[in-house]
Amino acid sequence: MKRIWITSIVMLFALPQIGLPDARAQSAKTLVDQAAGAMGGMAALRAIKNQVIESEGKQFDSSSTPRPLGPTREISTFRYTLTRDLTQPRLKLDWNGRNSARNENVRFIEVIDGNVGHIQEGDPKTAKQGRLHPGRLATRMREEKRAAANLILLASKQKSVHRLADAEVNGVKHPVVSFKDSGDEFRIYLDAKTRLPALVDILEDDPLEGDSSYLLRYGDWRKADGVLAPFSLRYELNGKPLQEEQLKLVSHNAALGADTFVVPESARSQKTDVTPIASQWILRRVAGNVGYQDFGRPPSVEWNRLADGVHKLQGVGHATIVVEMRDHLVAIEGPLYEERTAPVVKSIKERYPNKPVRYIVPTHHHLDHAGGIRAFMAAGATVVTPFSAQGFYSRVARAPHTRRPDSLEKSRRAVTIEAFGGGPRVLTDGTRRVEIYPMPTSHAEDLVVIYLPGEKILIEADHISPRNGEVRSAPLVKEFVNALDRLNLDVGTIVGIHGDSATLQAARAATQGGK
Ligand SMILES: [Zn+2]
Repeated sequence: MKRIWITSIVMLFALPQIGLPDARAQSAKTLVDQAAGAMGGMAALRAIKNQVIESEGKQFDSSSTPRPLGPTREISTFRYTLTRDLTQPRLKLDWNGRNSARNENVRFIEVIDGNVGHIQEGDPKTAKQGRLHPGRLATRMREEKRAAANLILLASKQKSVHRLADAEVNGVKHPVVSFKDSGDEFRIYLDAKTRLPALVDILEDDPLEGDSSYLLRYGDWRKADGVLAPFSLRYELNGKPLQEEQLKLVSHNAALGADTFVVPESARSQKTDVTPIASQWILRRVAGNVGYQDFGRPPSVEWNRLADGVHKLQGVGHATIVVEMRDHLVAIEGPLYEERTAPVVKSIKERYPNKPVRYIVPTHHHLDHAGGIRAFMAAGATVVTPFSAQGFYSRVARAPHTRRPDSLEKSRRAVTIEAFGGGPRVLTDGTRRVEIYPMPTSHAEDLVVIYLPGEKILIEADHISPRNGEVRSAPLVKEFVNALDRLNLDVGTIVGIHGDSATLQAARAATQGGK
């Protein structure tokens, strides 16, 4: 059977030619006009010059969960004011959030004017300012197209708009219209009775999940200045929630200050080497209050020697570690996404043309740590992982990536996953040993640490993350050091996938902080 495009929706096969229901005979244009009519009429939609929205809600993470494929968890709450121009691609987003997972406030103001934007992050008095990441801008502006009034206006202008087979949402049949814009296909599902948009879906790429349904559900339609607007919004990735919000206010054609959409000259003149790729991945990273800045940027691969035959391939935030064995290599971590890890794999092949990467050992399943693993799978590396993550990596290996084909999609290579448990998995060539210890923590149940007894090196992710040889005191450090003590290893240096290296003593000292 063909892959189902949208997991939460059952697509109906095309209806037979004879006995078409009336609704099926309607053209896409009629349906778009009916949607506009339901919202207050095309003329009323066209008369909206700007919209001010106040909203509040929650964000969720379905990837960086403790258990691989475990339940989605709430990570933040937020409220925002959004001012959008419907006549030009301009907006101002004033965001106030609280990331409960990291115990941090999230405050930023984005202003976008065309293809350049400005961001102010942190408390306005002491905020960091700069040019808005072009990928974040592209993603935001693509979301603008899904703002209900914009969506219907855009659909009404699109030559590519056409009708698809009706589809069921929650057991109810919906007419569906589709159009393409800037490389994305927007599928709009209309309520069969009211003709209001029920949801809009985009087929997106995700490094781990592959071809993904990135869906926005509209609900709670209410009248705002003579036009119906959805006051409930829910974003989902492959059926799992990313963001739920309830609008508090929608107002149209407000008198805006002349400086509302002004991007300062300092931001306009700031150079960038980022390709503007729209991706839900960026918004998920923003929701997590973690980095995304390398997305769309040419990767830098820097080789740093840790010991004889042990190298760290440093990126900006994440690294891969390569251990040279007699006739093969062991790689630890395939982070982020294809665009980061494929160049790492290429660089490894150039340096060791006669030694294949036989094993890839991910530290844990979180999206930024495992997102590039398919590049190693495509190179023929066997994934070594605890039993708890076996199902997860089989899914990653099988996920179709037709939207943005990656190296595994192109190579169509069969992937071997070697799961283990009941103690460490030891990889050896008779001389060097690479010992992989399962070390479940509250951060990740499938966490492993990698120990090189010959070099007394311990490789870890997300718990120690040393900076300039120092370890910041945090509850996770204490949990990690306690778990490490139980393994009773003779550790000289702790090497972080994030940051640099530190001694075990430095990590131990950070547990004395009383936190
Ligand atoms: Zn993690």
